[in-house]
Amino acid sequence: MPPASTGLPSHLQGLIATGEQQRSRHHRGRFAPSPTGPLHRGNLRTALVAWLEARLQGGELLLRIDDLDTRRNRAGAEEAILADLRWLGLHWDGPPVRQSERTGLYATVLSALRRRGLLYPCRCSRRLLADVSAPQGAVSVYPGFCRTRAHGWGVENGRLPSWRLRLQDAPLCWPEAIAAPGRLEAARQVGDVVLRRADGFLAYHLATAVDELALGITTVVRGEDLWAATAPQVAVMQCLGATPPTYWHVPLWRDDRGERLAKRSGAEGVAGLRAQGLDAAAVIGLLAASLGLVPAGSRLSAAELLQNLSNAALKRRLCGKA
Ligand code: GLU
Repeated sequence: MPPASTGLPSHLQGLIATGEQQRSRHHRGRFAPSPTGPLHRGNLRTALVAWLEARLQGGELLLRIDDLDTRRNRAGAEEAILADLRWLGLHWDGPPVRQSERTGLYATVLSALRRRGLLYPCRCSRRLLADVSAPQGAVSVYPGFCRTRAHGWGVENGRLPSWRLRLQDAPLCWPEAIAAPGRLEAARQVGDVVLRRADGFLAYHLATAVDELALGITTVVRGEDLWAATAPQVAVMQCLGATPPTYWHVPLWRDDRGERLAKRSGAEGVAGLRAQGLDAAAVIGLLAASLGLVPAGSRLSAAELLQNLSNAALKRRLCGKA
């Protein structure tokens, strides 16, 4: 059981304890797309790696739909994602888990953290923070303006506050299988993270951290663009008395100019590849060849690829690409 000091209601403590027990007994990976559009080639490749990783361990693969930010969701995107994964033979276990159906759980965790004094209300606007952040700074670290101010919880100037997690000045670490070792300094490199936005949306970091624990996830496979996002998620897990899973932050597929593929810019997915006359075997071949797992031009099913691969070989290929 997590220590009683987590301040969580007992049914939530039980949920997290059950997830931890599950983790110690059974391998479970997850693939967690956002339904903001169809999966592009890069997303499909990450899905293939998540599927291979889970199956090579004899484990389960969960499909989680990250649909909390309802303004970014696109009609029909979830159905398209499910259909594309099925078409490629990348089957998952159990029904898809939609974050939008779990907001009660996240809100309960949020209020438990608030009652323990781990959160504080923040009135800083995006514009204010954009003005003070260094122009060259790729990652913006919250400068802590509201840390010591006594703000109310209510509406002020027509706005509610956001709620930030007060991080301890200590390293945040996680086991990393592919990318750079997982370690960021909380105060200098991460900063107090928003767990509930001023517009009322529960933040991705909160939901994701809770889900990895409650759903008993042992291995998270996702794009390396989320490497730094792991630190705030680890911070939430620590507040819940739990340790993080292992992460595989896999290289992004870049276009000819070295730019990462983006759903917004219409990077090609299954529909485009099919329109070029490729069938599922050709697409799996294309994805696998881009990782150096098979020669270019190979045609094979995901299940055939699995037969000829070991976990160590998959990891080696991915490390070589990072
Ligand atoms: N939903 C996120 C995305 O599609 C991924 C989140 C995750 O894997 O933690 O970029």
